[in-house]
Amino acid sequence: MALKTDFRHFLDEAGNVVELTKQAKTIFKFLSKIVSAVSENIEQPMIDVDLNCNTRAEQLSCGGSIEGKCSAIDMIEWHCDTCEASGTISNWQGSLWDKQARILH
Ligand SMILES: [Zn+2]
Repeated sequence: MALKTDFRHFLDEAGNVVELTKQAKTIFKFLSKIVSAVSENIEQPMIDVDLNCNTRAEQLSCGGSIEGKCSAIDMIEWHCDTCEASGTISNWQGSLWDKQARILH
């Protein structure tokens, strides 16, 4: 089952992180790291994120690595290289974790 997330749900209008539950904080930390890594290497077809699968929630034992890419519709897709875990992140552009913002077009 893919985890579909809208990055805006974690942010207020100013782009700051809203107050999150402990569980949401954990998943946000996970997602924001993917956004940073993928946006920084946006031209690459697949990016190895320096992140273990089990950091997305407590009590997970999978030590697989997360890989991510930016799809054609500007959605970040990620998956674990070991288990079935996968997901998408939308509306991450322009956030504090969007590393491509500094590139001039
Ligand atoms: Zn996994």
